[in-house]
Amino acid sequence: MIHFNRALEFPLSPSLSYLTGLHFCFTLGSSLVFLGDELVGVILYLSMAEVVGPRLYSCCNCRNHVAHHDDVISKAFQGRHGRAFLFSHAMNVMVGPKEDRQLMTGLHTVADVYCSDCRVVLGWKYERAYEETQKYKEGKFVLEKSKIVKENW
Ligand SMILES: [Zn+2]
Repeated sequence: MIHFNRALEFPLSPSLSYLTGLHFCFTLGSSLVFLGDELVGVILYLSMAEVVGPRLYSCCNCRNHVAHHDDVISKAFQGRHGRAFLFSHAMNVMVGPKEDRQLMTGLHTVADVYCSDCRVVLGWKYERAYEETQKYKEGKFVLEKSKIVKENW
């Protein structure tokens, strides 16, 4: 799936290592940049299909991949530190002990969710909801917007 095309421009000299990071891109074309007679750069027109891949969220602290954008159920959740997202799945996380918490939407059994790499608290998992209208949250993850960063997009 091709999401979009991107033109990258960079100077020739120190950037060959940067180029190697792009080996999995499908290059649509390139053009050379001259300053007078001197070749100073190259522009690559890339299909970002491979680079974009699945859109991920990472731990803000260590960049561990913790969730897929496709697994977002809601972006309108209230976390402990502001906005939070509800995800159907999370990965590379550890789930702490269960405890009952009275939340704005009623009593829930929840467990803190930690980054498996750096152990920072990212949010919580709903283990059980006691009210019928809240049952859809069971098994889902809330990650604080301030604790995750977009990766690859
Ligand atoms: Zn982390």
